[in-house]
Amino acid sequence: MTDFTRTRAAFHLPEGVTYLDGNSLGPMPVAATARVADMMRDEWAEQLIRGWNSAGWYAQPRRVGDRIARLIGAGEGQVVMGDTLSIKVFQAVSAARALRPDRRVILSDSGNFPSDLYVAEGLAGAVDAELRVVRPEEVADAITDDLAVLMLTEVDYRTGRRHDMAALTARAHQAGALAVWDLAHSAGAVDVDLLGVDADFAVGCTYKYINGGPGAPAFIWTHPRHSDAAAPILQGWMGHAAPFAFDLDYRPAAGIERMRVGTPPVIAMTALDAALDVWDGVELADLRARSIELSEAFITGVQENCPDLVLNSPRHPAQRGSQVSFLHPQGYAVMQALIAEGVIGDFRAPDVLRFGFAPLYNDVSDIERAVDTLARILRDGSWDDPRFHQRAKVT
Ligand SMILES: *Cc1c(COP(=O)(O)O)cnc(C)c1O
Repeated sequence: MTDFTRTRAAFHLPEGVTYLDGNSLGPMPVAATARVADMMRDEWAEQLIRGWNSAGWYAQPRRVGDRIARLIGAGEGQVVMGDTLSIKVFQAVSAARALRPDRRVILSDSGNFPSDLYVAEGLAGAVDAELRVVRPEEVADAITDDLAVLMLTEVDYRTGRRHDMAALTARAHQAGALAVWDLAHSAGAVDVDLLGVDADFAVGCTYKYINGGPGAPAFIWTHPRHSDAAAPILQGWMGHAAPFAFDLDYRPAAGIERMRVGTPPVIAMTALDAALDVWDGVELADLRARSIELSEAFITGVQENCPDLVLNSPRHPAQRGSQVSFLHPQGYAVMQALIAEGVIGDFRAPDVLRFGFAPLYNDVSDIERAVDTLARILRDGSWDDPRFHQRAKVT
């Protein structure tokens, strides 16, 4: 059994704050401060350029990738870290499309995160492909024989709706297409099994449920059947077979290493490495069970105590990730009032109040406080104060 008392204690949770926004930015692992300070002092300061070898910086993207692999059902040597998720989406979709050169269509859904759709649209324009976007519930029927790539985010960032990865991947394969999965709201949140569902490519970020810190590097996974055939497209020197030969011609490295682009963010990856220590000993089945327990308690509590809010997530836990959202016409102001009371969730336009449940550090006391506070500010109308209506740049 996973010890969630230990994992909760491993985070710095600010005094007086109930944090339900780990789906946007996870809290800081206590150990990250010293780990980054040690790295700066012992490695950067003392070893200087030698640190690429002596401190293992060059191998870090693969070493940390192996630690992510366990959380997403991938094997050793199949995951590499680097860049931002948007860039990894580009790499995965472009490589998948290049494996189906006789087909033009990239299919996604309107519940996908805009950056993924923008990236695919830009790619489609550059390589004479077509981005087709349907509603999430229409995806299965839209998988047709002209499809090159199915590009989906497993868990919808607004509703928390979870696609059936196994079924949709199988359907894409039957149609002769490849499946690219974005795990931004899945990795560290639900029990992902990439090899089990037979996906082709997957990408994700590490600053949400994995708690790697703002701007922590993204990851990319390629199924081993593609990893020596996939064309990286973004051909950077660190994905070269012999980066320090400084050849004028590009030759991709073997396997997942070719998905590296340029110099990795070593300091950020050191903080991420500290965050991954907390995951040691966490069983994904326990994670999923606790996530369901927390989100069910929240939904029940809100439905009983906040009649003004409308559930915007699937009611059945099997169809959800680890976040839940509710609608309110003045959602922005309600969320600002809630944050002012120390309960942090977030708002997504136009009217979505979003709450993430991170089993590593959230417990039932967080749920009780969040429900009580939300019910109170809705009942007494205190959310309708002019200061809560002023929009900040990041919402
Ligand atoms: C959070 C998120 C992103 C963010 O991409 P970055 O390049 O890391 O800013 C992209 N896609 C999805 C599905 C996300 O949830």
